[in-house]
Amino acid sequence: MRRIAFIGLFLLLSIKSFCWGFYAHQRINYFAVFLLPPEMMVLYKPNIQFLSDHSVDPDKRRYAIAAEAPRHYIDIDNYGAYPYTALPRKWEDAIQKFSEDTIQANGIVPWWIAIMQQRLTNAFKEKNQAKILKLSAEIGHYIADAHVPLHASSNHDGQNTNQRGIHGFWESRIPELLAENEFDFMIGKAAYVADIPKYTWSRVLESGAAADTVLRDEAALTNLFPTDRKYAFEERSGKLVRQYSTEFTTAYNKVINNMVERRMRQAIASVAGYWYTAWINAGQPDLKNLNNTAFTEEDLKEFEKLNADWKNTALKGRVHE
Ligand SMILES: [Zn+2]
Repeated sequence: MRRIAFIGLFLLLSIKSFCWGFYAHQRINYFAVFLLPPEMMVLYKPNIQFLSDHSVDPDKRRYAIAAEAPRHYIDIDNYGAYPYTALPRKWEDAIQKFSEDTIQANGIVPWWIAIMQQRLTNAFKEKNQAKILKLSAEIGHYIADAHVPLHASSNHDGQNTNQRGIHGFWESRIPELLAENEFDFMIGKAAYVADIPKYTWSRVLESGAAADTVLRDEAALTNLFPTDRKYAFEERSGKLVRQYSTEFTTAYNKVINNMVERRMRQAIASVAGYWYTAWINAGQPDLKNLNNTAFTEEDLKEFEKLNADWKNTALKGRVHE
């Protein structure tokens, strides 16, 4: 009995699970900065810590606003088989065909990215530094989420196939264990994205196509591992928690052929590409010479509130996205 209570406590400690995990989101925004041209680097490099720290604000907002959750995923397999042609890519056509309630329930990440991109472009046009930084940090989050296979699957935490936990395993445990020493994030230069919606849908379709592999390979490997080798008490952020063992994690990473690294690299390239595109489409404003260089009282209050809600409130909407 005491043993069960003990294990329960550890599970509770690790229950707050996030898209890509905080760690991966922060790394993705951080490395995206290095792909930018010098004209953008003058703003992004001195603010790299902000862009990295605030990459996770959209996840924190999920504790304050119920409408936030669907912005992080799309259960695209609910619309038939790959390449999901039954689902219109245009928002108006999609809600006309399926109703807005259904579209919202299945997640809206590709459409939300387009809205954020427009806001970021406008912020560049207004030369509003505070807005540019906030929106850059946040759009980086949604773009990164669109690159996660299980963010494009209705079986998002393996709940339909007895694989619960796979969501956090793929996007938190693997990068936290392997990114620092084994992943390569030297990528090149940001590329202009001529058609934002088309590009976004291509990444989402890649994610949808990879979800099967993510799930199938984990199930196959689980058959080769006794439970006491699949899970182990190992350290995470200075705490001992029961989690997927190092042995299982590295074996799985090999089976999926470094898919997590490949999707992280693609996410970094995409984030830099969207930032760069917004700046170009706004007419390449001089980023050494912006307005609103300090965050307003209101901005600072919002940052504080996001943190407070995240720490003290129950999650609204779906747990694992
Ligand atoms: Zn997210």
